[in-house]
Amino acid sequence: MKQIAFIGLGVMGGPMARHLTAAGHQLTVYNRTLSKAEHWAAQHGGKVAQSPAEAAKGADFVISCVGNDDDVTNVILGNEGAFSSMQKQAVYIDHSTISARLARQLAVEAKSKDIFCIDAPVSGGQAGAEAGKLSIMCGGNVDALNLATPIMNAYASRIVHVGKAGAGQTAKMVNQICIAGTLQGLSEGLRFAQKSDLDLDKVFDAISGGAAQSWQMDNRWKSMARDEFDFGFAVDWMRKDLGLALDEARANGATIPLAAMVDQFYAEVQAMGGNRQDTSALVRRILKK
Ligand code: NAP
Repeated sequence: MKQIAFIGLGVMGGPMARHLTAAGHQLTVYNRTLSKAEHWAAQHGGKVAQSPAEAAKGADFVISCVGNDDDVTNVILGNEGAFSSMQKQAVYIDHSTISARLARQLAVEAKSKDIFCIDAPVSGGQAGAEAGKLSIMCGGNVDALNLATPIMNAYASRIVHVGKAGAGQTAKMVNQICIAGTLQGLSEGLRFAQKSDLDLDKVFDAISGGAAQSWQMDNRWKSMARDEFDFGFAVDWMRKDLGLALDEARANGATIPLAAMVDQFYAEVQAMGGNRQDTSALVRRILKK
């Protein structure tokens, strides 16, 4: 049983923290909107802290799952941030999707405080978090990963050590680049099938057993066909992630024109009011008839 501070009880963090209590760990939770933390603790037990620093004090592990670079900087490096109170030899795990540059900076700051640190963005969405079956791509040193793995096993079905600090975040960018292209292809295929007046059940039954199969096809074609998008991974988050990938591509010289184009398509979906809709809302910008 470990003392764990969990920061950020959103769509992903809430269920991940729940799996940790179910695994028998002692949790102290912090959330910017305090009422959410109080509600979580009333349901699952554990203590509620008033600041990240208070949550992190005396913890063996500090885990964050907040929004973007600014949010992680705030809750970890800020005046009331977790690093101001963490004990030496404790482990910091960040599950937020942020820039590789900030992940590397966190690793440097952690080392200067004798804290183990890994960047550990996740894939698998809300359903993966609820089911405890996330895929986690990790950056950092082996010692940190070995300490973090038994903890992350509570909500992961796959944990891969990709490389040094920042490599987990860079791998997550690869993930998002692949998803952007896949979803645009699926959107075009679906609209093409609709315009051709094909029986969609038969089409997707046939092609999902072949080379076009994907997680997006298996899990999203039906809801896309029904125009249902109020769930899942938000368009706003996807634009943040594609922005991170485009910045990184500018730095490493990679060309990702399809990801750049789909990012602009998502800007159109935002203009249609789809900010919090699932990324499969990409199909909305292609006319049906
Ligand atoms: P979310 O539901 O919006 O939750 C974010 C949580 O972080 C909220 O509890 C929020 O507090 C807290 N937070 C944000 N900024 C903060 C700040 N400056 N200080 C303190 N707390 C702050 O987001 P999510 O969907 O769980 O996503 C979290 C991270 O996981 C993001 O980086 C996202 O890209 C990544 N991710 C998400 C998914 C997905 O399917 N949702 C999948 C893979 C990865 P409040 O309650 O006050 O807003």
